Amino acid sequence: MENTITTQRLSLECLKKKQMNLSIKRLDLIHPYIQGNKWFKLKYHLEEAQKQGKKTILTLGGAYSNHLYATAAAGQMYGFQVIMIVRGEPTLPLNPVLQFAKEANCEIIYWDREKYRRFREENSLLDKEVYGDFYFIPEGGADALGVKGCADILTETDEYDYVLGACGTGTMLAGLAISAKPNAKILGFSALKKGVFLQEEVEKLIEKYDDLEQKEKPQNKYSFQIITEYDFGGYAKKTAELESFITDFYAKTRVPLEPIYTGKMLFGVLDLIEKDFFPEKSRLLAIHSGGIKPMYAR
Ligand SMILES: *Cc1c(COP(=O)(O)O)cnc(C)c1O
Repeated sequence: MENTITTQRLSLECLKKKQMNLSIKRLDLIHPYIQGNKWFKLKYHLEEAQKQGKKTILTLGGAYSNHLYATAAAGQMYGFQVIMIVRGEPTLPLNPVLQFAKEANCEIIYWDREKYRRFREENSLLDKEVYGDFYFIPEGGADALGVKGCADILTETDEYDYVLGACGTGTMLAGLAISAKPNAKILGFSALKKGVFLQEEVEKLIEKYDDLEQKEKPQNKYSFQIITEYDFGGYAKKTAELESFITDFYAKTRVPLEPIYTGKMLFGVLDLIEKDFFPEKSRLLAIHSGGIKPMYAR
């Protein structure tokens, strides 16, 4: 899937005016269902589950989670039974993510918010007696193997001074930070409210990755910066301005964005360009991290 990733150079008036070079790496195009950074976060988990001879994958997430969607599809493609724990109460009709999961024969279990929160804090509610012998993938694939997968997003042939990506758990950003060329700057646009904490999250994820790979800690910490000004009020919150930006961006570039992650990121990138944040003639590489489910496609 990865061999076919395209990088699209954007031509927009505002870029010409500021003499900026902005390209977008289209992870959204790698597969209709297992797309975006979710594929990168899953791939080493799938490999590990196979290695361990597991037949079942257990994972969890919110009811609209791109991670659940991708895991449902990957389970089917790679022959795993998928058990997914969904945060919240069941509601009918099923939303498109859960409908897709059901059609992919996933077993769906609902945990109320209280139980889900307790699990996050204690990590202790997954009983093998109850759920069988499973391979566990954390929410959003946010662990060392997820980081390792995201380190495969950038390749030798990419050219950039800045790499730009949306941040939820920060796993993708950690992968970008450890794999980018020296001197490149990595900017993560928080999709969450008060995203300042992501700086530390990404550092922790990088440490976990270093432990997994038994790497010596580098002398200089990887340099990346979390941008918090474009959260539009918080996770999955949106405004009319953001929606019209997305529509307009699609009309001009034919690149579909969604309002949760990539729309906010690109809005932020273009706004920073307008505000002369980047030095002249910078080469900017934005990562299209996906999230374009067939149901969103225009
Ligand atoms: C999950 C997701 C992200 C966030 O990735 P993290 O590694 O959790 O920071 C960004 N963009 C899209 C489209 C996603 O689905």
